[in-house]
Amino acid sequence: MKYNVECSSCGHPSRNLLEFRCPSCGMPLDIRLHLDFETKKIFRKDFSVWRYRRFFPYVKKGEIVRLGEGWTPLVKFSERVYFKLESLNPTGSFKDRGSALLVSAIHKLIKKRRGYISEDSSGNAGASIAAYAARAELRAKIYVPETVSGPKFNQIQFYGADVVKVSGSRSEVAEEAQEHELGKYYIGHILHPLFRDGIRSLAYEITEQLGWEVPDLVYLPVSAGTLLLGVVSGFQHLVGSNVIKSMPRIVACQTKQVSPLYHRMKNLSYRPPENLASVADALVSVDPPLLELMVKNLRKVEGDAVMVEEKEILEAFTELAGKGFYVEPSSAVAYAGYKKQLKKKEMPIGSNAAIVLTGTGLKTTAIRP
Ligand SMILES: [Zn+2]
Repeated sequence: MKYNVECSSCGHPSRNLLEFRCPSCGMPLDIRLHLDFETKKIFRKDFSVWRYRRFFPYVKKGEIVRLGEGWTPLVKFSERVYFKLESLNPTGSFKDRGSALLVSAIHKLIKKRRGYISEDSSGNAGASIAAYAARAELRAKIYVPETVSGPKFNQIQFYGADVVKVSGSRSEVAEEAQEHELGKYYIGHILHPLFRDGIRSLAYEITEQLGWEVPDLVYLPVSAGTLLLGVVSGFQHLVGSNVIKSMPRIVACQTKQVSPLYHRMKNLSYRPPENLASVADALVSVDPPLLELMVKNLRKVEGDAVMVEEKEILEAFTELAGKGFYVEPSSAVAYAGYKKQLKKKEMPIGSNAAIVLTGTGLKTTAIRP
């Protein structure tokens, strides 16, 4: 067997790719790979995530759903900084890596059962899942918070998904998406292990684009944790396969309002604000279901966390746009985190960094002050 699915907490096996919680204890599931990464096994003429398809063994060859995801540019911004332009993915965010893998792996199974998929999202993941469902000719029902940004809501609707607006907290949106309905298969991107696993390709790409070297530091905006966990797992796979010697230092960047991981990493207590009012509207998980897993995995790879203020996000967002990189404010959180650590000398002198710019600015509703 090239992989198995098991509980991230108790190790209980799962034998069904549609399962998203441990059948024994209810904790999140993980994909465990039993194959090494080998550079000679890359499909070099495929300029998408599928160049690494041999390392995603749960997707059958004839069942790949493609929109042109991955192999996004890694652009040198300054002497020591690279930007990974995930905003250039088909639906405008890194989520396409997860959606492509997840939908490719399950669409046949769900069609056979005459079912449809359901997903909950603050916007980007919903748009992404909706696009891949459309491409796979699969019906999708996307649950979004009432506060969803107009452009993201529009995008989901035009892909042809049913959109359900839910009032209340982000967790209430998730609960409603999971409520049982005839034919409904919940494949929520936060809980489903295949979505998270699809993000591994981002670590492979950064490394390959740097000539099989890793940067000293990798900065990621973190909310629900799929990006963080996927990227950590990708680099771990490369280390375990002796493709790279050691992990880059992964830095999780959070907003002051939504910073449960930062607080846990620094052993501080966190109390979320009553109402979120951040320009970083994609970062909303004040109580992420994957928090324990994030803390465990980030500690294991000796990663770090940084928290930025609203003012710092806006400054980073404006600076990036002023240099031609129009990304969403939530993505600018990663650049703001880098700038903060640089200023506070919280990195070794001369370190180089890859900063993941996760989503396009074209969906933002932020207005220039
Ligand atoms: Zn378990």
